[in-house]
Amino acid sequence: MDDLIRRIAALKKEKNALILAHTYTRAEVQDIADVVGDSFELAVRAADTTAAVIVLAGVRFMGETAAILAPDKKVLLPVADAGCPLADMINPDQLQRLKAAYPSAAVACYVNSSVEVKALSDVCVTSSSAVRIVRNLPQKQILFVPDQNLGSWVAEQVPEKEIILHSGFCPVHHKIQPEDVADARKLFPGAVVLMHPECTKETRREADHILSTGGMVALVKEKKHQRYIVVTESGITHTLQRHDPAAEFIDISNPAMYCRNMKKITLETILRSLDEEETLVTVGDDIAEKARGALVRMLELNR
Ligand code: SF4
Repeated sequence: MDDLIRRIAALKKEKNALILAHTYTRAEVQDIADVVGDSFELAVRAADTTAAVIVLAGVRFMGETAAILAPDKKVLLPVADAGCPLADMINPDQLQRLKAAYPSAAVACYVNSSVEVKALSDVCVTSSSAVRIVRNLPQKQILFVPDQNLGSWVAEQVPEKEIILHSGFCPVHHKIQPEDVADARKLFPGAVVLMHPECTKETRREADHILSTGGMVALVKEKKHQRYIVVTESGITHTLQRHDPAAEFIDISNPAMYCRNMKKITLETILRSLDEEETLVTVGDDIAEKARGALVRMLELNR
């Protein structure tokens, strides 16, 4: 592994590359990344970087987002077929039909979506920014796509808006049941339950804190608790442990909390990606321009 890490570091320097890794990637991938963060943090860093090459250790929509926000950079995805099933749960035709049914609604689109769907949206949101952005939109009626769970959580936080939900869900988070969390609490008394808003409404009732992965990191950095039950994709326990080595992080004991797409990214795939400059993420100019509008509005409305 040391040799792989050395070769990645050398290529990174030679190519003036930045490695951005999502918190759901493997521990060893997070350890060699320049930035480990949630979708929002990665999008901001991609937009700001002076590096010539961005290696996006994450799934396809993250690579597309980086390519749109940093059009003068080479954006590489280590694994071309690392996708997001949630993003695939709505296509442009379905969104067009929804827009026709709700013509006065603003379309708020979770960043976990295809570039074509973003191009049809008024604004993108991430789990850390969705509540603030929806609250700041001038329209009362909001069409929220594609994640029904994040959308229902936003609706709870922003009751003054009328939120119309699409039926998409993240297969990793959607399967977790309230009993899974209650069982973990019995096994680990006193643990604080951190939960991602992509979990269902019923399961969210079992949480102490409902937070984006970035929000979880911020809370853990405060070092107020000794033990946490973490209800989101298992990769984040490594991220959290780095921020508070003394605390105990319990990954909920359910095999569903594993995103096999995120875990496709390995040190070997990152090395190959840097070496061969593959797979280059490209987005057509027209579609990129429209999607950029929704992404830039996300960055603006989250200030
Ligand atoms: S954890 Fe869920 S939302 Fe995130 S990439 Fe995997 S399938 Fe998509």
